[in-house]
Amino acid sequence: MMAVPPEEHERTLAFAEIALGQIRALGQSASPRNFEIWYHYATGYNQPLNQAINEALATKGALSDADLEEIYDTYIAVNRLGDRMETVNGRVLDEIKQVITTIDAAAGSATSYSQRLSLASERLAQAKDGEALRAVIEHLVQGAKEMELDNKKLESRLAASRQEIEQLQQNLETVRSEALTDPLTTLANRKYFDAALSKNIAEAIEKNEPLSLLMADIDHFKTFNDLYGHLTGDQVLRLVALAVKQNVKGRDVAARYGGEEFVIALPNTALQSAITVADHIRRAVMTKELMRRSNGERLGRVTLSIGAAVLRPGDTAQLLIERADNCLYAAKRNGRNRVICEADPEADAGSMPPARVA
Ligand code: GH3
Ligand code: MG
Ligand code: MG
Repeated sequence: MMAVPPEEHERTLAFAEIALGQIRALGQSASPRNFEIWYHYATGYNQPLNQAINEALATKGALSDADLEEIYDTYIAVNRLGDRMETVNGRVLDEIKQVITTIDAAAGSATSYSQRLSLASERLAQAKDGEALRAVIEHLVQGAKEMELDNKKLESRLAASRQEIEQLQQNLETVRSEALTDPLTTLANRKYFDAALSKNIAEAIEKNEPLSLLMADIDHFKTFNDLYGHLTGDQVLRLVALAVKQNVKGRDVAARYGGEEFVIALPNTALQSAITVADHIRRAVMTKELMRRSNGERLGRVTLSIGAAVLRPGDTAQLLIERADNCLYAAKRNGRNRVICEADPEADAGSMPPARVA
């Protein structure tokens, strides 16, 4: 460890104290994530983060766990990903520089060898005795040896470099897939889904295939969280994600779209089949009895409401999602734990969906 200069030491401690003070004042848990957020806040170096926190505090007076998670993902985790990308880039550049240096050296030795050759042919022409001839030949042999050595160096440098670059490629692949995955459920995240849906829509139009979309939301999840705590809530999110995964296949794309919302695109699937998939997922969730891992306490069941819509001519991703979302709210209005599609009379009965917290 490098020694921290005394000034720096005082400063970091002061930031840490401010961070803890904020956590105390707002009654939050002193988890590493929260600490990190408030430490960043205290330093003031991450301006967009400070702005987001200030705005949330000004409008709501408090920050929920979901707010903190979003702030973390948007303003801290994202930077971290950028840092890692830059590190990988930097290493590739270093690697390339080193290879170029080695190639230059090898090229240099080839040039000097060819100079030696022309010099040798001049000297050969003038060589009067065996001794002079031997000297010329020895000089040539020496040159060839040096060149061979440089070529060997180049070869092994290239082999090492190839290995290094393969390793870096793998790292990049990991970083990329982490950027597109929801860490809690290991489903795709919203970013991945948005890109996949646009692609699916283009394909559906091109191949003249139906494309259905399901939007699912856990019923009364806030009550569940309030009753059993956020960590148990997270377990439930994993359980719902598993039910989703077990009921999709092939080209289907399932993602965690927001806090406790899931979205599934079903290529080459008509609305009626999409409803069947939705109902399988709904049943899978509702038949699982929840148990707290630590003490085996029974926590009952959770249920899922699902809305289903199918791509129409002239649709955009946004319109399709909106229609599925409207059906989801119709399912909520009509008693929850059900699937409603846009062909159902309930879908457009009733008023606007309740205002949603973004
Ligand atoms: P409804 O049946 O109308 O959907 O009721 P609800 O309580 O599920 O809906 P609401 O949108 O009011 O609440 C969603 C809750 O989901 C808020 C929060 O407690 C919880 N939640 C959101 N994201 C997460 C998360 O990542 N983990 C956990 N444990 N809970 C979350
Ligand atoms: Mg919700
Ligand atoms: Mg809900």
